[in-house]
Amino acid sequence: MNEIFDGISSFLKSGKAISLKTPCYVIDEKKLEANGEILASVISHTGCRILLAQKAFSNYDFYPLLEKHISGTEASGLFEARLGKEEMPSKEVHVFCAAYRDDEFDELLNYADHIVFNSVNQLKRFGRKAKDCGKSIGLRINPEYSTQEGHEIYDPCAKGSRLGVTRSVWDKEMTAEVLELLDGLHFHTLCEQGSDALEITLKAVEEKFGDVLSQMKWLNMGGGHHITKSDYDVARLEKCINHAKEKWGVEVYLEPGEAVAINAGYLISRVLDVVENNGMKIAILDSSAACHMPDVIEMPYTPPLLDAVTDDSKPFRYRLGGPTCLSGDVIGDYSFDKELKAGDMLVFGDMAIYTTCKNNTFNGMPLPDIYRLDRNGDEEKLTCFGYSDFKQRLGRKK
Ligand SMILES: *Cc1c(COP(=O)(O)O)cnc(C)c1O
Repeated sequence: MNEIFDGISSFLKSGKAISLKTPCYVIDEKKLEANGEILASVISHTGCRILLAQKAFSNYDFYPLLEKHISGTEASGLFEARLGKEEMPSKEVHVFCAAYRDDEFDELLNYADHIVFNSVNQLKRFGRKAKDCGKSIGLRINPEYSTQEGHEIYDPCAKGSRLGVTRSVWDKEMTAEVLELLDGLHFHTLCEQGSDALEITLKAVEEKFGDVLSQMKWLNMGGGHHITKSDYDVARLEKCINHAKEKWGVEVYLEPGEAVAINAGYLISRVLDVVENNGMKIAILDSSAACHMPDVIEMPYTPPLLDAVTDDSKPFRYRLGGPTCLSGDVIGDYSFDKELKAGDMLVFGDMAIYTTCKNNTFNGMPLPDIYRLDRNGDEEKLTCFGYSDFKQRLGRKK
C-alpha cells in the first residue's frame, strides 16, 4: 500500500485536502519524478529511447518535468501528436494509428517525426509522401504470440486482431518499392507485463521477422512494460534491449504509458449516502467508476483505496458505487476500520493513468478538477470543469 499512498499521506495529514471540492484528481509530482528517474536510468544504461504514450497520461503541465527524463511522446493520432509537439516541442513525436485519414495526414506531417503504419495498404497510401517530408517510417508487425490470458480487449495478438501485420500478410502484400521506405518495425503486444513476457515476445518477433530486422534502423517495442513497478525486472529489460541492438544493429524505442505515471495520481472523493440491500451496505460516492475511472469497469479491476482492504479482514464492509443510473457503476467491495458516513473522504490510488484522458460526462456527471501536488506538498489547481464542458459536447455552441 505504501508505494501507492505515501506520496499523499503528508498532504492529507496537513488538513489541506478538507477544502478541496470533490471529486478531484491530484497528480503527484514527486512520484512522476521518481518514475522518470527509473526510465532515465534504462536510457542511460542501454542508449535506448523512451517515449510517453500520451493515451495513458497527457496532463501536459507535467511534460516539462517528464522531458528531463525521457526522449519524447507517442501519439495515437492527430490530436495527441499535436499535443506532444506543442507541449514537449524539443523532443521526438511518434505516432501510431490503426488507420490514418486522407484529410488529416498533411497536418500530421507538421507534428510527427516517426510515423508508424498498421498495414501494408496504409504504407503504400501514405508512405512515400511521409518519407519525402523527411519522416522516419515504421510498420507495426503482429508477432502472433499472446503472453496474456483473460483480457482479449487488451491483447493485440488475439485471433482476429486488426493490429499489426502478420508475417503471412507481409509475405503476400509487401513490395520492394514500399519495403525500401521502411526505417523501422514496431510491435505492441504487452499490457501491464514484466520483462519475462517481453523476452519471449522478442523471440517470437525474431522467429517471424528476424530476417527483415537487420535491414531496419530501429525497433519500437511498444508499451505495456511495467518498468516502474517495484517488482519489475529492469535488468532483464536492459538485456532484451541490448540483444536487439547487437543482433540487428537497430535503435530501440519503448513507449510506455502506464509506467510513466503509475501510482502518480489520486482520485479524492466523498461519501454522499449509505444504503442497504439484503444485508449489504452500499456507499454512494460523488465519483463514478463509469465516468471517472472507466478502466475499473473495462479492464476490469478494483482500484486501491487508502485505509481500506478488498478482503474482509477489517470489520466494516461496503460496496462503493457512483451516483449515476448505471447498476454496474460499482468501484468495488472494500472493508474499513470504521463505519462510513456521508461526508467521509475516500482516496483512490494509481489514478493518474487512463483517467483524466479517458473520463466522460455520462449522466451529466461533472469532470473532476485536476490538481498538482508539488515537491513541497503544496497543491495547485491546474484546471476545473463545469456545466459548459458537459453541454458543449452535445449541440450548437451558444
Ligand atoms: C496503449 C499503447 C501504449 C502504451 O501502453 P501502456 O500499457 O500504457 O504502457 C504504447 N503503444 C501503443 C501502440 C499502444 O497502443
